[in-house]
Amino acid sequence: MVLGRQGSGKGTQCARLAERFGIRHVSTGDLLRDAVRAGTEMGKRVAPLVESGALVPDATVVDLVCDEAQRSDWEHNGFVLDGFPRTVAQAESFFSLVGTLDEDRSSHPDVGLDAAIALEVPVEEVVQRLARRRVCPVCGTIVTVDDASVDQVPCPLGHGPAVRREDDEPRALRRRLRLYEEETGPLLPWFEERHLLHRVDGVGDPDGVFERVLEALGALLDLQP
Ligand code: AMP
Repeated sequence: MVLGRQGSGKGTQCARLAERFGIRHVSTGDLLRDAVRAGTEMGKRVAPLVESGALVPDATVVDLVCDEAQRSDWEHNGFVLDGFPRTVAQAESFFSLVGTLDEDRSSHPDVGLDAAIALEVPVEEVVQRLARRRVCPVCGTIVTVDDASVDQVPCPLGHGPAVRREDDEPRALRRRLRLYEEETGPLLPWFEERHLLHRVDGVGDPDGVFERVLEALGALLDLQP
């Protein structure tokens, strides 16, 4: 799984990992936004939280991820988790549902976590990156604009305008960054205690960051990048 503050490039790096290893990319942010767009019961409940940058209740996201796990035969195929877990409570309840995860990793879970990659990017840099991020509401393609004052640009796949995500607006973004420090920050020592954490410098072009992610995984999983 990949951790990192908003705008650290988690989504990009998770998509690359999924492609490289032929595994599923599960983004709780995407699943929640899909539910909001589809207007499902759960989508209606979480819409104000997602749009304002608040965290969705732990039980809701844990259920969502467990449903995905059941649907997609994860145990056999593997997966990359993007944006989940985001709190220690989510990590504990997810791993107690899908498998055990002891501090010393002495017992091997059925569905366990091989590695937690923490992408490290300073706050000032992510604020600048997100000010230039526009997203197609139809296909999710991200466009980075040169000029942060430009509100809309065409979706490269022709769906219409790519716009600023509601939760990238300055007020919501400040809230999300604060929540990251308060709620997600404690997950770093949690994973570290379990010998799963690998910190990766997330500054620089996505190709260079991906090389560093693969190097980190190589050490942890003995994979050949
Ligand atoms: P993201 O695309 O990962 O930045 O997520 C967008 C929004 O979805 C977040 O600001 C939260 O409102 C919600 N969200 C996504 N993942 C989680 C999670 N694991 N726990 C709680 N809320 C989440």
